[in-house]
Amino acid sequence: MKYFSINRKSEPVTFRQAVLSGIAADGGLYLPETFPQVKDKFFAGIEYLSFNEIAMKVLQPYTADEIEPDELKNIIERAFNFDAPLVQLSNNLYVLELFHGPTLAFKDFGARFMAQVTSYFLKDNNKQITILVATSGDTGSAVANGFYDVPGTEVILLYPSGKVSVIQEKQLTTFDKNITALEVEGNFDDCQRLVKEAFADEELKKRIHLSSANSINIARLLPQSVYYFYAYAQLSELITTRKEKKLPVVFSVPCGNLGNLTGGLMAYRMGLPVKRFIAGVNSNTVFSEYLKTGKFNPVPAIKTISNAMDVGSPSNFARIKEIFNNDYELIKKIIFSRSFTDEETLDAVKSVNKKFGYIIDPHGAVGYLALNEYLSAEKSEQCSGIVLETAHPAKFIDVIKNTVGEEIIIPERLRACLQKEKRSIKISSDFKSLKEFLINRG
Ligand SMILES: *Cc1c(COP(=O)(O)O)cnc(C)c1O
Repeated sequence: MKYFSINRKSEPVTFRQAVLSGIAADGGLYLPETFPQVKDKFFAGIEYLSFNEIAMKVLQPYTADEIEPDELKNIIERAFNFDAPLVQLSNNLYVLELFHGPTLAFKDFGARFMAQVTSYFLKDNNKQITILVATSGDTGSAVANGFYDVPGTEVILLYPSGKVSVIQEKQLTTFDKNITALEVEGNFDDCQRLVKEAFADEELKKRIHLSSANSINIARLLPQSVYYFYAYAQLSELITTRKEKKLPVVFSVPCGNLGNLTGGLMAYRMGLPVKRFIAGVNSNTVFSEYLKTGKFNPVPAIKTISNAMDVGSPSNFARIKEIFNNDYELIKKIIFSRSFTDEETLDAVKSVNKKFGYIIDPHGAVGYLALNEYLSAEKSEQCSGIVLETAHPAKFIDVIKNTVGEEIIIPERLRACLQKEKRSIKISSDFKSLKEFLINRG
């Protein structure tokens, strides 16, 4: 499989090149040249497959000519050593829990797969690679965790000072060894811009082998297709066991940089039967506005309580357009989007807890709200609604603890990290500070 730059000014590359460079020389994002079609046979028995078996089937065509099946199996087993259970809240309403990885957010899937693939591609050469990651909260810790102590790699995290939760900050700043956290005096968009500027800088390019692990890296996106298939498998199992009628499936995705949604759309293009994708957004409404007006107007990010979605200029937007051949009507047909305020989000956390006895985090709550909007807008047909729960609620305990009527249990892996000491280096949002840091460090 070859990967092409969506700007089409660079040549298509191998999977290895796409992963190690992150972004094409022409500044474009990579996409696979085709979406391999899954067979009907695969769906016929999908309810009997484990997550890793599904991952193998979905991912192998993307890597086939470069990674032997046995090697891919090892990569998958090391990357996905945790589950993604589908939890039923009520008739036709489900939550796909994507927070069972080490850093308690869905980004563990992409980050851990990318780390394993990178280390596989680097294992026979002595190159040192420096991975720059701009993070609005959860990416950084997932990437750091995935790459922690991986030989030949160094990770530099850039996060916006004062704009991530106390717990997220602890998760970003308590690594040692090959991980460094830079605390940027600015917002998330500044962090993203700094990373982009670093990639465009000729002098840095000569001195350091830079790579990216943001959701722009294709190795982050591919595994995010897998859990859509796995959710479908679990749903099929429930429905078969109960001898219920199969309904059309809709996925509701809480969106920021649109990487999670793009993973779903790729699964759809591979043949996963999905009726509609729902993109829930917070007060950062650039995508919901695009679906309403056809105009894409990036603006500075606004701070909200679902802060991993505080993105004013979502980087995967260009990929979504490409996946649908720039056909706006088609995009509107398959994706439904609505935005919600913090107040509505907290109300949803409360009502989900009251109605279903389930504690949902603020990001998942936005997905829940968007699904409800969709269901009331499209009264016509019944469907199975799956909300992607992207983070464990304990990550946002400071925001929701007074909203839910029960104690939020902090998982042990988070508790351990909270006891460690914060270590970060402050830099300004000016590119000069980042460049100086990169050149002068050890
Ligand atoms: C990153 C993140 C999101 C947004 O995902 P995108 O792929 O950037 O759209 C939603 N929820 C949580 C908890 C996240 O960490």
